Amino acid sequence: MKVRVRFAPSPTGPLHIGGIRTALYNYLFAKKNNGKFILRIEDTDMLRSVDGAENHIRESLKWLNISIDEGPVKGGLFGPYRQSDRNSLYIKHIDALISQKKAYLAFDSEDDLKRARLAQEKKGEAFLYNWRNRKNFRNSLNMSSKDVEKELNVGTNYVVRFKSYAKGDEKTITVNDVVRGQITFDKSLESDKILLKGDRTPTYHLANVVDDCLMEISHVIRGEEWLPSLGFHCQLYDAFGWKRPVFVHLPLILKPYGKGKLSKRDGEKFGFPVFVVDWGKKSMSFERDGYLPEAIINYLALLGWNPGGDKEVFTLKDLEGLFSIDDVSPSGSKLDIERCRWFNHKHIQRKSNNTIKEKLLNELEKREIYNSQVVPQRVANLIKERVYLLSDVWDEACYFYESPENYNTKNLKRLEKASAVSALISINGYVSKNLGVSWEKAVDFVAEDQNMKKNLILSTIRLALVGRFAGVSVFEILSIIGKEESMKRINNLLSRLKE
Ligand code: GLU
Repeated sequence: MKVRVRFAPSPTGPLHIGGIRTALYNYLFAKKNNGKFILRIEDTDMLRSVDGAENHIRESLKWLNISIDEGPVKGGLFGPYRQSDRNSLYIKHIDALISQKKAYLAFDSEDDLKRARLAQEKKGEAFLYNWRNRKNFRNSLNMSSKDVEKELNVGTNYVVRFKSYAKGDEKTITVNDVVRGQITFDKSLESDKILLKGDRTPTYHLANVVDDCLMEISHVIRGEEWLPSLGFHCQLYDAFGWKRPVFVHLPLILKPYGKGKLSKRDGEKFGFPVFVVDWGKKSMSFERDGYLPEAIINYLALLGWNPGGDKEVFTLKDLEGLFSIDDVSPSGSKLDIERCRWFNHKHIQRKSNNTIKEKLLNELEKREIYNSQVVPQRVANLIKERVYLLSDVWDEACYFYESPENYNTKNLKRLEKASAVSALISINGYVSKNLGVSWEKAVDFVAEDQNMKKNLILSTIRLALVGRFAGVSVFEILSIIGKEESMKRINNLLSRLKE
């Protein structure tokens, strides 16, 4: 079987990581099976379409290096790939269903439907337009062809509905889903869903099924929220006489805290990004927060699937060779931003040190620090293993370029003032008297001179250099910033301690 899969987002807003995971699984499945990955924009609901959303979808995939084989911009043999450009195809197919009486025209006005709904609800029952009552409505199943024509001629508004279950039909439809197994739907409990709206545009269901068939989609891999529509979609395939694709409904990505599906608003609520690239000016995004695309790919790939074994860090290329939909888990997974940070750390370590250097150069430029003697490459090499997000780079590197403006109060309190003061005096005195002496030797001297533990001396010097008990090895810092600057910072802390 030729594998052709599609990612079919509706451009109703920015693409969030739930959608991205769906795109990624489709992409990986296509790669693993030498297939094609298609981007189809499902913009049948023009009222809900949002300006810029399609662009955000494309930019997000581009940032992640998920390449598209066919799509609205890329083109392809099965286009157009935007549903709003495919209307005539839907009309043609709906006409075929109408002529076989598998779909029908319904002329009921809003008021008629409202009245029927209220009456039903009064009886304590939910209103469904289906086999029980379709004969009571103004539709082409009940009207003579002359009357239908009359309505059409005077321009009465109508929709086209799918004729689902009718008395005597098989009541159930059984479908297979790779993740969920066999699922049976009771057709008699379904309504006759609208396929074509009053404005002659298709509903999601019609356009989705027609396109999947015309684009020769072999596997439909999508979010679990579409599972309730599956029975209906299969009825449509059967009505058209088309072979059903293989269905794979992916488990939900859940909120990090509490219950339920992750929503676009959760990012703002909990303070973490849900988009990979910026959406609007105020937005948070993984890119802005200093994540690498490789880390997001790795994290999302393992959110609902894993290849077995202990290995966790994978590149996109690795995943392309490993992915299998048979191992997708049926249960939802909570978004875990700490784990995502951990993957980012791992992928930063795999990158060349230049990634950190470039980020550092950027930060220096932002701060107009041009004349420093400190070599960025040296700093980058040293801090790399401490960086979790690219946005940490300045925090990890700043003390090489700027003397601390203040000292961490908690750390400061932990110093025993009198001995810290005499240690600092002793070390500066020794270094200025013994030109060319190494800092290691100077620390040894102070340890003996002051009868003080080396660790205590080092953390006091660290506070002087960095402003807090953090950072790379004290001797590395001393050697990089140089004797003059080091002694100046030691004096600064001394004055502070003496205040
Ligand atoms: N347009 C649907 C969405 O926005 C696509 C569902 C599907 O993949 O069939 O998620």
